[in-house]
Order: sequence, then C-alpha cells, then structure tokens
Amino acid sequence: MGQLKFKLTHYPEIYGPGPLAQERPDDEIGTMESTIDTLSGAILAGLACRCPRCGRGKLFQGFLTVQPRCEACGLDYGFADAGDGPAVFIMFLAGFIVVGAALVTEVMYRPPLWVHAALWLPLILVVTLGPLRPMKGLMIALQYHHKAAEGRFRGGQP
Ligand SMILES: [Zn+2]
Repeated sequence: MGQLKFKLTHYPEIYGPGPLAQERPDDEIGTMESTIDTLSGAILAGLACRCPRCGRGKLFQGFLTVQPRCEACGLDYGFADAGDGPAVFIMFLAGFIVVGAALVTEVMYRPPLWVHAALWLPLILVVTLGPLRPMKGLMIALQYHHKAAEGRFRGGQP
C-alpha cells in the first residue's frame, strides 16, 4: 500500500496536473511585483506576520524574533523596533477580558474555585500568547508605513 502510494505521487503526468498545480500561476500573478503602499494593506500584512512592503516574506524567524531582512524582497527589518509596546498592551487587554469573564461567570454560575482556575489560567495563556505575534507584526507594519510615507513626501513638513 505504502509503496503504491509513493509511486503514484511521483508520476503526476499519468494523472495530469493536480488542483495545486493549476492554482499556482494565478497565485503568483496576484502577488508578484506587488508592493503595499496603503495603510490597510500594511496593517493586513502585519497582522498576518508578513513583510509590510511586499506582503510575502515572513516577518518572524522564531516565536517573536524578527528576521534581519525580508526573504522575498530584501527589505531590511532594522527599522523595526516594536519593543515591549505590544506585550504591555496585550497584558492590559487580556487582564481586562479575563477578569471580566471571571466576574460574569462568578455572578451567573457561582462555580467552585477550582473551576475558575481551570477556566482562566488557560484563557490567560491563549489571550496573551495568541495575539502577540500579529500585534508585533502590526506595530512593525505601522512603523514601516510611517517611515515609507515620510520618505515619499520628503521636502514637506515633518
Ligand atoms: Zn518583503
């Protein structure tokens, strides 16, 4: 069984191009040579953890480590200095969400203490770790957009 499967996947000419092969050119036409110069485009790219200039290269190489440069268009990510801004913002927001949810649950169901612990500890992890990457990507995208716009309108007011 395993051997047969292995052989089939290596002779695509027998079965013709798969659906993936047909989607590929379309995909490339859509993204090739396109640079993002709108704010909404930069924000979307940032939230998707993509390069804010071309929208294709990955922004991170680890969980939160920013790559030295874009692997697709070569944009130097040296300008990116998100610092702890996103983390502080998310902690604040997450605390607000979790405390609110805990209060509502307590008032409505009055569960024992262990239920609170079982519910809110995982939720804290999800709401803090989950948005960290997109938020950092968003910060970097906004910084990039700001600097790119500055360069474009150089000569005017700062
Ligand atoms: Zn890029």
